[in-house]
Order: sequence, then structure tokens, then C-alpha cells
Amino acid sequence: KKNVLIIGAGGVAQVVAHKCAQHNDVLGALHIASRTKSKCNDIIASVHEKGAMKVAGTFEAHALDAKDTSAVADLIRKTGSQIVINVGTPYVNMSVLDACIETGVAYMDTAIHEDPAKICETPPWYANYEWKKREACEKAGVTAILGVGFDPGVVNAYARLAEDQYLDTITEIDIVDINAGSHGKYFATNFDPEINFREFTGTVYSWQGGEWRENRMFEVGKEWDLPVVGKQKAYMSGHDEVHSLANRYPKADVRFWMGFGDHYINVFTVLKSIGLLSEQPVTTAEGLEVVPLKVVKACLPDPASLAPGYTGKTCIGDLVKGTKDGKRAEVFIYNVADHKEAFNEVGSQGISYTAGVPPVAAAILIANGSWDVKKMANVEDLDPKPFISLLNRIGLPTRVKDAEGDRAVDFG
Ligand code: NDP
Repeated sequence: KKNVLIIGAGGVAQVVAHKCAQHNDVLGALHIASRTKSKCNDIIASVHEKGAMKVAGTFEAHALDAKDTSAVADLIRKTGSQIVINVGTPYVNMSVLDACIETGVAYMDTAIHEDPAKICETPPWYANYEWKKREACEKAGVTAILGVGFDPGVVNAYARLAEDQYLDTITEIDIVDINAGSHGKYFATNFDPEINFREFTGTVYSWQGGEWRENRMFEVGKEWDLPVVGKQKAYMSGHDEVHSLANRYPKADVRFWMGFGDHYINVFTVLKSIGLLSEQPVTTAEGLEVVPLKVVKACLPDPASLAPGYTGKTCIGDLVKGTKDGKRAEVFIYNVADHKEAFNEVGSQGISYTAGVPPVAAAILIANGSWDVKKMANVEDLDPKPFISLLNRIGLPTRVKDAEGDRAVDFG
């Protein structure tokens, strides 16, 4: 058994907490820490309300400033945690990772580190922060799994599965993320608006023809026809996983596509064009200094509040092209998740669910040794089979569609 410390108390942390509780027979004592302790208490209360703890055990809340490395290290020691699941804001990744290296415990996150002062980093993004700590992890024997949500995360494992199971060579990896759900609000983001908009205001980097290409958001669109969600328009977007997959598959084109409706694009374009997505403070006529993006965030619905009324499904997967036995071949590896089912099980919408289940699977794999690699890894560096098998059993089943048909991926 390994004790777990969850950092953050947002939508994804809610799912992580419920899933850890459902598997606290293999994980040990559970702890959750965030800036606002009451949010941690609310999450623990919802876990108990659902009777989610598999066996009787500890689940405690803590107040923590995760930007303070020594405070994180102290809490790791105090709680005897051996695995840290960091699902706080991506601004805290490096301080939490440093604390894990200092205390010698396993680390994971679901998004790349971001510096709030920088709008867009140079590619590959992981080289700017995380990969600089590779040697330190190896020296300390620390398992650090980067970006183990759904995308990044499961989609990286899908690329590796295509390499291991289905194709001999890989020439193209297109990751497609479609949310065909409906929250019923005029406009809302599915997770922190600040992080969400930052994703779309910077340069869109893709890896094509063996080099980094640059586009603007919504410049390159394409209609996809996917299982369950049908025909959907998606736009090439900048995303974390492109920046690690390009490293493992330098000869392949690696692109990420995110589905958007015209309404979302219209509202986003108006907000951006009149400067309301800016992180630069402006001063009002009354002398009040405000950050436009923070004001927009304060006006929009809290992403967690969307969960009760959310209906419909998500489809996220990898279309991987290449060759098999000397012939051209392609495979689509994917998951379909349902917003309402997620809410009924853990009280969250589908986007948080798909992001929150995979790090718990990773924690179980660290606890049972199969992913306890004692070094830093992106998900595609690890054996995808135990991960995908476990996800099949704990709420995120994988399917594959190729020339032989559309079927469940099952390793028996
Ligand atoms: P939220 O904004 O809902 O939650 C973030 C949490 O971080 C909040 O509880 C916040 O605390 C806490 N936090 C912020 N600053 C600090 C600090 N200095 N110390 C301690 N806690 C802090 O985000 P989500 O739950 O939606 O997302 C969590 C993470 O998951 C993000 O990194 C996001 O990018 C990632 N993600 C990954 C996905 C994937 O598939 N890979 C998909 C969706 C999200 P407080 O509430 O007290 O302010």
C-alpha cells in the first residue's frame, strides 16, 4: 500500500479523490491539500456521501500553498505520502515536483508547467521546465510521470499502443478531442477559463515534416467523422502531448485537434478581439487596476457547476497512420465517455472525469510496481498495456477501429 497526497481541489481533484477512495484497498491513507481547505473538506464529504471508500481508512484535508516547495515537502513527510497526484493549477508543477525529489516520493501531473507571466513557450514545451529535472529524478530514484490525464495522458499511451500492437512504422499521429456534450449555458469553459483561454491565445505548434510548424488558433479546421459523436469540426490546437510525442516519433507528423462549435468561436473571438482575454492589467476611469482575463473568469460559470446538467458524450482518440507488413495502414484508438454517467458516479462532468481517472490508474500501477520506474517519464515511454487494461476496468474503456472493424481493446 502507498499513501497518496492529492494536490488541488478543483473539478479534476474531485474525480481523483473519488477514484482513489474506490481503490483505497491498494492505495493507503488518502490526503488532499489545496489553497482553500474548505474545498478539500467538501470533496471528502462528497466521497463519504457516495460511500466511495472501498475499505475503512483515512481521508484528510489540508491547507497548502503548493508554490512553496518546503511546505509541500513538510506535508509529504507529515502525511507519510509516497505518491503525489498533482491536479492543482499548472502554475504549481515545478514546486511540487521539487518537493517530491527532495522527499524521494513519486510524482505525477496532468498538464505541463506554465509560467503565468508567459503566454506561449518555445517548443518542445517539456524542455523548458520538466525535462530539466530528469537527472535529478533519476539520481533520487523518483518516479515522475508527466501529463497523465486523458490528453495529455491516455492519448500518449494510445500512440504507443499503435506502435506496439498495430503498426510497423508510424507516419502520422492525429489526436482528436471532441466534446459533443451540452451544458445548457450561453457560454462556459469546461475547466479553469484562465488555463482554457491561454491554450487558445498562443501559437499553435505542430510537428510536421520533421520540424515545428506555427499556425494561429482556428486557422486550420477539418471535419472528422468519429464513432458515436459523428461528424464534428475540429481545429488544430497547441497541446502538451505534441511536445513529447514529437520526441519519440520524430519521423511522424504529430497534430492535435480540438472540436469547437461556431458559437464558442464567435464568443471567444469577440472576447479576444476587444482585449478581454488579456493578462495585462488595465486601469479603469475610477483608478481601479484590473486584469481583463480575471474579470471574464469571475463572470463565467464555475466549471464545476456545469456538472449536474451536463448531457451527451465525449470522444477522444488517436488516428495513427503508417505501415503494416509493408502496406499502408491506419488505426483509430479511442474512448467514449458520458457526462451524465460521470456525474452519477463521482459528481463531476465528463471532461473532469476523463482527466481524473488516468492519474489514479497511474497511482495504482506505481503502488503495484508495474509503473514504478524510478525516473521521469512521459506516458508514451511506459508500457501502455497495464494502464489501458486498468482503465478498462475503472471507467474509461478503450476501443479500436481499423480495417478489421470497431471493437473493444482487451488484453485478457
Ligand atoms: P481547477 O481550476 O478546478 O482547480 C485547480 C485547483 O488548484 C484549485 O482547487 C486551486 O485551489 C488549486 N490551486 C491553485 N493554486 C494553488 C496553490 N498555490 N496551492 C495549492 N493549490 C492551488 O482545475 P481543474 O481541476 O479543472 O484542473 C486541474 C488540472 O488538471 C489542471 O492542471 C488542468 O490543466 C489539468 N487538466 C488536464 C486534463 C487532461 O486531460 N490532461 C483535462 C483537464 C484539466 P483553490 O480552489 O483553493 O483556488
